[in-house]
Amino acid sequence: MDYSIKMVDLHSQYLKIKDEIDMAIQEVINSSAFINGKAVDAFSQDLAGYTGAKYVIPCANGTDALRIAYQVLDLKPGDEVIMPTFNYVASAEAAALLKLKPVFVDVWEDTFNINENLISERISAATKAIVVVHLFGQSANMKPIIEIARDNNLKVIEDNAQSLGSNYTFPNGERLMTGTIGDINTFSFFPTKNLGCFGDGGALSTNDKELAQKAAIISSHGQGQKYEYHMVGCNSRLDTIQAAILRVKLRKLNSYIQSRIEAGQSYNQLFENLRQISRPSESRWSKHTFNQYVIRLDSRDRIKELLKDSGIPSMVYYPIPMHLQKAYSYLGYKTGDFPVSEKLCREALALPIHTEITSQEQEFVVSSLINSFNKL
Ligand SMILES: *Cc1c(COP(=O)(O)O)cnc(C)c1O
Repeated sequence: MDYSIKMVDLHSQYLKIKDEIDMAIQEVINSSAFINGKAVDAFSQDLAGYTGAKYVIPCANGTDALRIAYQVLDLKPGDEVIMPTFNYVASAEAAALLKLKPVFVDVWEDTFNINENLISERISAATKAIVVVHLFGQSANMKPIIEIARDNNLKVIEDNAQSLGSNYTFPNGERLMTGTIGDINTFSFFPTKNLGCFGDGGALSTNDKELAQKAAIISSHGQGQKYEYHMVGCNSRLDTIQAAILRVKLRKLNSYIQSRIEAGQSYNQLFENLRQISRPSESRWSKHTFNQYVIRLDSRDRIKELLKDSGIPSMVYYPIPMHLQKAYSYLGYKTGDFPVSEKLCREALALPIHTEITSQEQEFVVSSLINSFNKL
């Protein structure tokens, strides 16, 4: 069969909403307010409405959002920030640039999210914040993390780059969207995220008015009045064109998430009896939005090659945990420090999943995977 299966299919997604997107882009061009145009503020209000966060401050990308969050919280050189080691680089990188010290914690093998039981032992007198990364589309276990933070006077930052649209249900039944629970939270609109723009984009959210004002000032050169600089900031803005695109796509986000959930569930069914793989676990407290569908298996690298030979793309998220990355070797970690993350880096494989994937394509992915096992 001649499928051309893609990890993501942004073009087909665009074609379905082409008229709306093209019109939104054209409007920005007509106004020529390319920076801080009307759509930027409108989008931040739309996203606040969608998530339930009181304030949303757009910025240039999700990595900047993390750096701005650390600055908003007044973190100073030498302050320690706890974060998972099985992760994308952004939270460690943003910390390192500000001379903060990333302190790593291992994750749960079945959900890939930070193991809340291992946080307390990493807290020192210098610890100031915890970055909770909601990986692959579902929420980490927020309630115990918030309690640890409260007991130790730490701030909580949710890195919601991969899980916009997901939620967390507290044991008492209260349900909040991810990205609205921490003191200040970050989002990325990189094209492959649940809500992606046509380039780079990001945002912060908070329920605290002062933190929101500070985030807005820092992302705009630390500028209070025009040409008066109240603090050291940066230039991190969301382009008006991206904001206009995001406004259109935010209106489709629930249906995009529904498509991802359906695709995730159909993989789950197709894999039900395949004992060579572990399917992604869904936490009882969270809605899994399947930004990624990540399985665990032995002989991962060989299977990935065999899949490629059958025309099936797949990705390794992530091949090396942060504590073993060369750039962060100065932190002094060694192999064996975080065994679960190290194991996941050998076993995890992300399969194609996106809003446009068809059940025939998924069946082909699964039958190719089964064939690959037979070739081992
Ligand atoms: C994508 C991502 C980021 C960074 O987003 P950019 O917009 O690419 O800077 C941060 N954290 C996580 C977990 C991500 O997946």
